[in-house]
Amino acid sequence: MYVTTIDQKDQKVRLSEIDTDPPKGLSKEDVEARFASLSDELFTLQDLLWGARTHSVLIVLQGMDTAGKDGVIKHVAGCLNPRGINVVSFGVPTKEELEHDFLWRVHRHTPRKGEFALFNRSHYEDVLVVRVNELAPESIWKERFGHIRDFEELLCEHDTIVLKFFLHISKGEQERRLLDREKDPSTAWKLNVNDWRTREKWNDFQDAYEDVLRRCSTLRAPWHIVPANSKWFRNIAVLTTIVETLRPYRKIWQRKLDDMGQKGTAELAEYRKQLRSKPV
Ligand code: ADP
Repeated sequence: MYVTTIDQKDQKVRLSEIDTDPPKGLSKEDVEARFASLSDELFTLQDLLWGARTHSVLIVLQGMDTAGKDGVIKHVAGCLNPRGINVVSFGVPTKEELEHDFLWRVHRHTPRKGEFALFNRSHYEDVLVVRVNELAPESIWKERFGHIRDFEELLCEHDTIVLKFFLHISKGEQERRLLDREKDPSTAWKLNVNDWRTREKWNDFQDAYEDVLRRCSTLRAPWHIVPANSKWFRNIAVLTTIVETLRPYRKIWQRKLDDMGQKGTAELAEYRKQLRSKPV
């Protein structure tokens, strides 16, 4: 669905050559019905996963400020049963977090079997903001690409389905969104001068993202680059990618539930038989 998926390490990625706008000719109205049906399908898939408890799902959201990480969480989480999801935002690390390795604070929030975790920012900040703002020496952050690949491989080996989304907006769109916040008193609480400071380093961040996409994409933990200038397109593109990734598991989860149902039915029948044969 017009999403660029990078599923191999060392694939060259040029963000400036990848669309930030939705495909021409597609409108919000065109995809509304599709969004509703995908939302139902995701809800059903989550229900199967919750019962089967064979896998877990990790969704990582990254992007420049205003790219829409919160918006995606609102829309994806809105399709799911809150019982089985955990949303985690990663901000500036605390003193305690900084006194551990960079993955310590992340690993404890990875999803348990049957559940979803949605990460608003993630361990990738440790090779993005840390690199651009020189919060650690190059010798430290460079090593982290390998640590991240190994970490995600470990999660996949333990049946976590990993989906990573880069919400791709243009510099012009970011400016519009930041200025809109100033115009609207109801969003003024979001104003943060640091967003403008970070924006000054736009090119450095894009370069850092290109390295992330090149070095931390694997078949089992791919990156999906989503054109995110339009909010409705961004939401449907993310939702489609999630559903298409989970759909192949449907049979496995259903089979597990069928087996559990048969086992429970047999145990209950045996219990009733014993009850009937008990002397009164
Ligand atoms: P958001 O911008 O995601 O809505 P905040 O305004 O709380 O949320 O910003 C979180 C900030 O934390 C961002 O500026 C981000 O770069 C920063 N941050 C996240 N992880 C790290 C990290 N590992 N090291 C330094 N800064 C980080």
